[in-house]
Amino acid sequence: MSHSLWPGLVVCLALAAVAAESSPAAAQESAPGRRRLYLDEFRPQPALRTRLHPLTRARFPCVNVHFHPGKLTAAELDEHVRVMDDANIAVSVSLDGPVGTKFSEHLQTLTARHPGRFVAFVRMDYIGDGSPDDPQSWDVHKPGFGARMADRLTEAVRQGASGLKLLKDLGLSLRDLNGKLIPPDDPRFDPVWERAAELKIPVLWHCADPRAFFEPIDERNERWEELYRHPEWSFHGGDFPKFDDLVAARMRVVGRHPETTFILAHFADLPDDLETLSRYLARHPNAYVEFAGRIAELGRQPFTAREFLIRHQDRILFGTDGVPPMSELVPHFQMLETRDEYFPYEDNPFPPQGLWNIYGVDLPTDVLRQVYYENAARVIPGVKQALADYAASRPEAASAMKGGDRSPARWEAMMKKFDAANAAEPPNASGVVFVGSSSIVRWELEKSFAGLGYINRGFGGSQASDAVHFARRILLPLRPAVIVFYEGDNDIARGKSPETVAADFRQFVAIVHEELPDAELLLLSVKYSPSRAKSMLQHRAVNALVEAYCEEDPQCRYVDVATPLLGPDGLPEARYFVKDMLHLSDAGYAEWAKVVGPAVSDAVARAKQATTTTSSEKP
Ligand SMILES: [Zn+2]
Repeated sequence: MSHSLWPGLVVCLALAAVAAESSPAAAQESAPGRRRLYLDEFRPQPALRTRLHPLTRARFPCVNVHFHPGKLTAAELDEHVRVMDDANIAVSVSLDGPVGTKFSEHLQTLTARHPGRFVAFVRMDYIGDGSPDDPQSWDVHKPGFGARMADRLTEAVRQGASGLKLLKDLGLSLRDLNGKLIPPDDPRFDPVWERAAELKIPVLWHCADPRAFFEPIDERNERWEELYRHPEWSFHGGDFPKFDDLVAARMRVVGRHPETTFILAHFADLPDDLETLSRYLARHPNAYVEFAGRIAELGRQPFTAREFLIRHQDRILFGTDGVPPMSELVPHFQMLETRDEYFPYEDNPFPPQGLWNIYGVDLPTDVLRQVYYENAARVIPGVKQALADYAASRPEAASAMKGGDRSPARWEAMMKKFDAANAAEPPNASGVVFVGSSSIVRWELEKSFAGLGYINRGFGGSQASDAVHFARRILLPLRPAVIVFYEGDNDIARGKSPETVAADFRQFVAIVHEELPDAELLLLSVKYSPSRAKSMLQHRAVNALVEAYCEEDPQCRYVDVATPLLGPDGLPEARYFVKDMLHLSDAGYAEWAKVVGPAVSDAVARAKQATTTTSSEKP
């Protein structure tokens, strides 16, 4: 992929051209070296020179959850499996399974020559025994449709279906006999959603289209060029629902059926409004999103997208739409895995979805694992086994996937324990909570800080990104005045860069500021330990970044707990560590208590001060 393909072309505005004939600009055109361009002739070649890293292979085995093999010949399917092999796509999920006897045939076509590489969803069928040309005869108009469709779903799952697929026809083209569009939250479908929950299969739902398609096709529409080519894609005017109403109707279904897993296609049609989507995901733990056809949106807001993808790392699935050739996969991997700047989201001279370029979001390794395969393995039946089969014949894939599930979901039991503890104890009389990895878990706070009632919410093996993920769940019930935070050790051990770790620290702090605006934070330095001596420089780099950050944030204090453990030779002293030379001994914790104790007391005093000031300021 090269910059020369950047097709920043803007298209023929016929009106502008007509106006030009008689305008002063027309006179200018005759000047030598001057020619007025039509917008569709514009092919700017960016002068920007930055290093690009086009990737033809996902770092981890990948599951493409949005794939349409419906019309492929056997030869084309073979060719696509070659692309999957090259790109490290282990499994593709067909969304083209027809309901009824043809489902087995569809699945068989995919798996006969390529066992273990495909699973298939079945489509909702509104027609039933009716005639496609005669909407009057369609099953969806007859009483009991939901129950019948639910039974057909059961039958499809018996034939091997892994999920149910819905198209945007529900809400945008399917009409009742009175001519009215049937809304997505029409109760006649409730038995279908309920059955999906009983069958433990997800519902993958494409409901709307880009917001711009619901706006007037005029000079302010940022997808004007595309809608000019495809006016039939517009849902503006007529009796089409408003974009927000359509999205809200679908989310009502998701909310009404909390036991049903919904995969919201195309980033829930909200890739350009991640704040709203974030709220939806927080409210509906049964909702997942996949980004088929939407990397152009994510990649044009790399900072926001990165934060979103990290925050909701266990809810994101990889998807492409269509039958992606390698040229389409490259920008997906490039966006997820690199920090490349200003590259095309499609290797296509005509930018299909908006006239812009995108940026990489450089996801942390563990987030990549979840997006590429772990979430799909958890949510879509059959995928886990297919991944195991894929790895069985590929040692490289097997070693990449070693170590089991790394998603924050693996701490669910721990979080439930915290929930129970919150319910049992009077929540946090002390106002002080310690959060972090095993160095926090193993710290007997009562021993170091007797009688002070500091609360321990450490979860072993965690990284800063995990603390980000669970920040609200851990902190909101306790509403602490002071938070002591220790992460970074495992992050570096798992290959994250110091910059990434520091960014995750900042993200944690941002969540605390948002949710608990008066809370004080103590960010403990990453310790140096004999067992991780070779990472000392990286730990130092994290510490320097965090310390610098704290200087700018009045509610954050950096506490150096690394230096007190060093001997005169500048190396960590063995007596401060237990046998594994990673975790602290009692002597080690005694050293920590000496520096952390006073820092906590100061922070408590500052927090008190802040509360009194705030309340006295109130009118
Ligand atoms: Zn699709």
